[in-house]
Amino acid sequence: MIPLKDAQEYVLQHCRVGHSELRSSRSSLGLVLAEEVLTSEDVPPFDNTAMDGFAVRSEDTLEAPQQLEIVGTIPAGSAPDFSINPGQAARIMTGAPLPEGADAVVMVELTQVEGDQVTVQKTVPEGNHIRRAGEDLESGQIVFEKGTKLTPTHLGVLASIGCLEVSVFSPIKVGVMSTGDELVEGKVPLEPGQIRDSNRHSLLALLNDLGLEGIDLGLIPDNEESIETAIRSACFGEGSCDAVISSGGVSMGDFDYVKVVLDRLGEMQWMQVAIKPAKPLAFGLVGDTPVFGLPGNPVSSIVSFELFVLPALKKMMGEPEIWAPKIRAIADSSLSRRQDGKTHFARVKAYIGDGSYRVKSAGGQGSHQLSAMADANALAVIPDGDGINEGELVEIIFLHQLTRRLNGS
Ligand code: AMP
Ligand code: MG
Repeated sequence: MIPLKDAQEYVLQHCRVGHSELRSSRSSLGLVLAEEVLTSEDVPPFDNTAMDGFAVRSEDTLEAPQQLEIVGTIPAGSAPDFSINPGQAARIMTGAPLPEGADAVVMVELTQVEGDQVTVQKTVPEGNHIRRAGEDLESGQIVFEKGTKLTPTHLGVLASIGCLEVSVFSPIKVGVMSTGDELVEGKVPLEPGQIRDSNRHSLLALLNDLGLEGIDLGLIPDNEESIETAIRSACFGEGSCDAVISSGGVSMGDFDYVKVVLDRLGEMQWMQVAIKPAKPLAFGLVGDTPVFGLPGNPVSSIVSFELFVLPALKKMMGEPEIWAPKIRAIADSSLSRRQDGKTHFARVKAYIGDGSYRVKSAGGQGSHQLSAMADANALAVIPDGDGINEGELVEIIFLHQLTRRLNGS
């Protein structure tokens, strides 16, 4: 068996950062900037008021309460063509530009209007409630560095500087296939020995959860020819994939052909990783395309995805943060195990209680018990030994990107 870290490093070394492209910022949510973004405009573009009220000369309010003459109204979107002389004020609405001569705004709540006169109740300092040009972003400055992952708010900022196109790392196409003669799809009656395929569904959804579109490569029977045809067409065929994930057929069984085929098609490593679940992993490059041969057990395939595929896909998409952060949590119940030379990844429910992360087992820990894993939102990393006692600290890795749930108590 090889240590997890070595296996992860091997995989990562063989996956390269993908291409970049110019793309509309609207369709770049979740993608990573391949170049920094500069602004050629100030944001805000002009001095403007943060409040509805009156634009005044601050020196006119020194003796407040003070009556001033109202000489105009400035709605947002207008450009005032008059100035404020001593003893004058103008109605002004949030976001409207300051008129010449005014250097402060008095909020409407501190004023009383009678005809064309306004009484200002309080003295206000220069600059009161004024948002200065360039206070958010200054023309010429770097707005976002290369490597920024674009969130909804980033897209808002890009819109605020009129940036409609950005250079981002292209989304990658990832094919997913399930291998196994026992697998069937959908609600057909099960013949003896058959089971329904679940891995393809979880893995495609994990890709969606990452913001990627997975490509369904279907169910592939346990024979070398079918597996070879499927992998070849995924890697070299029309509309070929940037990465391929298969599940099943990488263990020690007589019909585990995925590793055999991968070995023939490209540079392949078949690994026994010192972890439970998800010990076997086949990884290879077919041409330039990384192919992940994940184990078939449903829980194992997902754990293997989290530990090996996810960091690799993140690297390919230019993400600077590749590794899932490990967070310390308190075990609310014991997480038992026996010594076997492996690191165990227990499926747990993590939640916040008393201001700390806390975890408890999500149920059956067999690698076939997918429904227990469905209840989990994190993996607890249990080092080799006798397990974690109730009340002890344990490191956890959160599962899921978009659909993370925390209130699993
Ligand atoms: P394998 O890795 O091919 O030896 O499969 C290990 C176990 O996982 C076997 O019990 C398979 O029936 C099961 N299995 C393999 N692929 C899938 C799949 N796509 N969906 C559900 N179970 C699977
Ligand atoms: Mg199999």
